[in-house]
Amino acid sequence: MVGVALGTAPSVFSQTNLNSITSKTSPIAVATWNFQNATKMAGSMLYDGASALDAVEKGVMVEEANLKNTTVGNGGAPDRDGNVTLDACIMSPDGNAGSVVYLKEIEHPVSVARKVMEETPHVMLAGEGALQFAIQQGFKRKNLLTPESETAWKEWLKKKEYKPIINIENHDTIGMLCLDRNGDIAGACTTSGLAYKMNGRVGDSPIIGAGLYLDNEVGGAVATGMGEAILKSVGSFLIVELMRQGKSPQEACEEAVMRTVNKDPDYKNFQIAFLAMNKAGEVGSYCIHKGFTYAKYHEGENTNNPSSSYLEE
Ligand code: ASP
Repeated sequence: MVGVALGTAPSVFSQTNLNSITSKTSPIAVATWNFQNATKMAGSMLYDGASALDAVEKGVMVEEANLKNTTVGNGGAPDRDGNVTLDACIMSPDGNAGSVVYLKEIEHPVSVARKVMEETPHVMLAGEGALQFAIQQGFKRKNLLTPESETAWKEWLKKKEYKPIINIENHDTIGMLCLDRNGDIAGACTTSGLAYKMNGRVGDSPIIGAGLYLDNEVGGAVATGMGEAILKSVGSFLIVELMRQGKSPQEACEEAVMRTVNKDPDYKNFQIAFLAMNKAGEVGSYCIHKGFTYAKYHEGENTNNPSSSYLEE
């Protein structure tokens, strides 16, 4: 069972106890895939004393602004009709959550999701309503379809073959978890979804419980890969509940992947991957196909770590 008292206010501890507690919970930022620029941003902020919530938002914003990442934010691949539509969500240690789906023309959907969480009585805003809300909140409209993404889409239109390639395209969603100096956990997930998806399609990434879930008494989990499969298993919620029951982050991620492997006869044809961290700062990850990695920033070290997988290919 994970120590629930780790987030208790430091003032109640003697210096000796405080040292042992902070060494167990020194800040950590982890993110799906090799997004070390994002974990560096979030990790440095955490070591400067930022809250997990601020760090996780700023961390994933690095990838939202990265034009080379065609699965997140600006530069994201469009749907089959040429629309770049973004999905994102965020959760704070107090259990609050915000989400936007099918948001167009706003570079940082995670920040809109945070505004939904903090400024509205709702959890999720979609489409035109989400865009109107973003503009009211001062976000600026921007064309997110880069010339490169447009060219690739036009090339795709020639054959219109819809077949996401495992680990190569369509799977660069960033899901991030941050553990701050107080031992509090926050998480975020942001994506442009699957390239050339149907107009209106929303995947797992902005869905609380699927692409992201956390409970500050237990830990958190994020997902990437074929959103349809992750939605059906509500994978991130499942992982947090398994950790609550005493499983390690690694064991919990493995069980979540196995739910899909055991139920979906098509599992060899798509990738799903989970990344989890508990309150003690233990990290685990698991996926169907080899090739998924996660970035981790801890005590000045920023690393890319291969995940274990169900299949060896
Ligand atoms: N999970 C995302 C989605 O299905 C895709 C990804 O991870 O890249 O929208």
